[in-house]
Amino acid sequence: MVPTDDAAITSRARAAPIADPSTFAATRVAICSHPRFEAILGALPNDGKPITGAAGRTKRIKRPAAETNVPPRVADRTGAHYRGAMHDASPAPLLPPPDPSAAGISLFLDFDGTLVEIAARHDGVVVDDSLRALVRALAEGLDGRLAIVSGRTAAEIVAYLHAADTAPPFAIAGSHGLELRWTDGRREAPAHPDALDLILTAFAAFADAHPGVVTEEKPFGAALHYRGAPDAADACDAFASRLAAEHGLELQRGKMVAELRLAGGDKGDAVRRFMADPAMAGTTPIFLGDDITDEAGFVAAAALHGWGVQIGDTPLTTARYRLPDVAAVHRWLSHIAGVSA
Ligand SMILES: [Mg+2]
Repeated sequence: MVPTDDAAITSRARAAPIADPSTFAATRVAICSHPRFEAILGALPNDGKPITGAAGRTKRIKRPAAETNVPPRVADRTGAHYRGAMHDASPAPLLPPPDPSAAGISLFLDFDGTLVEIAARHDGVVVDDSLRALVRALAEGLDGRLAIVSGRTAAEIVAYLHAADTAPPFAIAGSHGLELRWTDGRREAPAHPDALDLILTAFAAFADAHPGVVTEEKPFGAALHYRGAPDAADACDAFASRLAAEHGLELQRGKMVAELRLAGGDKGDAVRRFMADPAMAGTTPIFLGDDITDEAGFVAAAALHGWGVQIGDTPLTTARYRLPDVAAVHRWLSHIAGVSA
């Protein structure tokens, strides 16, 4: 039985070593909805030694000999696979991206950890006027080919960047791709999940019992942030995973956060939807992000003949290039916008 949901996939991926290639093949197909696992498998040496995943937990996954030295096959949520079409996911240092001309590219930018420094609390990020001016200059220079793609709500992105709510100068994918807004005012968003009130109540009780854990209500889900209580990471993950299964929601893991949200949609879907629009169609998509959820964006960009830029020092990624931090992102974007950093 091939697992199909994230919890089962996670469980299956942890149940290693996977010694039987046929079993491995089924698992490899099954993990296609989780780009990080696929990236990890593609980069693994065939020694079965434990590695540390993005969430800090150790996984022992053995890659069969027959697959050694084969370029990693990267798959997205749709099940499409791209073997060898991307950067060979590797722990080797990645170079900074080249400075592209604004002509012919579409830019997809994550928000937290990419455009702004991650704050101790999710509601504590600082956005200064120089960043807003940079985003405005980018939007103008790219003429409809800029999108902010975030786990935050679209309304938060509008508020932080002081954009016009009805027709922002850039496209927005909020809530990990569940909310889409185009520059001409079109919007798409799913219905509010029925179980959200129950989940918020359960999360609040959990946070009361785990000092430092903070809950966040979102339009299509709820999150447990444990940056203030790193020791509670496993408890948060397990609790959120159980509620996800009970209510048919998806568990979205991120940096120091376990989030429940409506199933369907991810940052890769957002890239494909925006790239299908006349403003971006036929251009080269470039996706910048710092977290696990951005891997789907890197994969989608590569499949459309573009590339991803990993922000920070995450050792395993499907991105082709890397920038070390938010300040470097601002400098790189300033070159594209033609403004001084
Ligand atoms: Mg981020």
